[in-house]
Amino acid sequence: MALRFFNTYSREIEEFEPGDLSGRPIRMYTCGPTVYSRAHIGNFRAYIFEDLLQRHLELRGYKVHRVMNITDVEDKTIRGAREAGIPLQKFTEQFKEAFFEDAHTLRIKRADEYPAATDQRYIDRMIEMISALISKGLAYQADDKSVYFRINKFPDYGKLAHFDLTQLQSTGRVKHDEYDKEHIGDFALWKAWDEADGDVKWASPWGPGRPGWHIECSAMSMALLGDQIDIHCGGVDNIFPHHEAEIAQSEGVTGKTFVRYWLHCAHLLVDGQKMAKSLGNFYTVPDVLAKGYTGRELRYALLRVHYRVPLNFTWEGMNEARESLGRIDEWLARLKQIATNGNAQHPTPNAQRPTAAFEEALDDDLNISAALGFLFESIRQTNRAMDQKEMDAASASAWLDWWKRINTLLDLEADTDVAIPHEVEQLAQQREKARREKNWKRSDELRERISALGWEVRDTKDGPKLTRGAGTA
Ligand code: AMP
Ligand code: ZN
Repeated sequence: MALRFFNTYSREIEEFEPGDLSGRPIRMYTCGPTVYSRAHIGNFRAYIFEDLLQRHLELRGYKVHRVMNITDVEDKTIRGAREAGIPLQKFTEQFKEAFFEDAHTLRIKRADEYPAATDQRYIDRMIEMISALISKGLAYQADDKSVYFRINKFPDYGKLAHFDLTQLQSTGRVKHDEYDKEHIGDFALWKAWDEADGDVKWASPWGPGRPGWHIECSAMSMALLGDQIDIHCGGVDNIFPHHEAEIAQSEGVTGKTFVRYWLHCAHLLVDGQKMAKSLGNFYTVPDVLAKGYTGRELRYALLRVHYRVPLNFTWEGMNEARESLGRIDEWLARLKQIATNGNAQHPTPNAQRPTAAFEEALDDDLNISAALGFLFESIRQTNRAMDQKEMDAASASAWLDWWKRINTLLDLEADTDVAIPHEVEQLAQQREKARREKNWKRSDELRERISALGWEVRDTKDGPKLTRGAGTA
């Protein structure tokens, strides 16, 4: 079956037909972080969804060229730098670094390019695009010296968001806050410099100023991926006005369809509300690590629900993630043991073999919930087969090969490079001794001491096993 995705533009599930790919990869653009503070884990839900999408396309044999922009100039970054009393570049640098560190912790595959909006070559491109829009009558400079997109001249404006523009219709000129726009919905392409901007300014045909947020993405995607791109992603809050504006700007300049497939992920919520900086209800990756969880556990917690379904963040959900990963770890350890030593007394060679169901679930609009459901059902059944000594070495190897393949997109295997500290080993041995002596009180005390050191001891059929991650949470 072909890949199918829900396209926000048509509001329908569509077959993925990227056209002629000879000699070129899939062109994918993903809106990146605005670096005025550390990204929160809601932002990372969007990046993990995009990571899964890229990895699944690659698993299905496509080559992907992915660009993720860094928004390092807009209102919030300028305000932040001013308040901190440091140059914009210096202010944003720390959050760029933090973003890459967190993305690494969450095992997010690096994009091919991370263009920054303040790079002069993209500023030049933005200026070129704005000039072209003005010459086509699609943009104008207002009395405040800023340049605005004239939405009434672009009939498709509102199509992505399925937005009824009549709600925004205005007759004549509207005085809107401090500036003079023709239409209340016209958005800024170029913002004229004012004192509050300090030394953040670039020269342009319309006087000194800086680009609007939307034109940054249009210019960077066009510069790096060409006039037309295959897939464009973001969170649902990007649909309007950001992506709607990107379409108007890019198509306004080229006259060609800008994006073939628009994919948006639902929000990460806290108590039913969007996790957002402005609401103050957010956690960062370091916040979650400080509670004793690992990047792998957070990756799982953010990955496990279908991208179009809102996901509520809870610490209970983090504990469930830990438990699910523990089941995978134990299962893999058992399979490895049987693949090497065999354990079958009553082998049923073909009864327990992996199928394509996991990957097919992902073909269906990236249905990770169904795919994981299949994984855990397989774990349950194969564990039973191993309990009953029905799994032969060849079947165990087949399951391990299957895992290796699906793990190219899950990327959830335990870190093997984390050595168990000597102290933890010793405590685990003492605990095992206490258990053999049926000294449950001492055994529990030792478990707690192990846990306080950030490790968890599990009693499996093959004896006690130590895993990373248990902590103070
Ligand atoms: P920003 O840094 O605000 O431009 O956002 C970066 C990305 O994170 C965008 O794709 C947003 O749509 C996405 N995003 C922001 N908040 C959330 C959230 N609570 N859940 C999921 N995605 C989000
Ligand atoms: Zn963008």
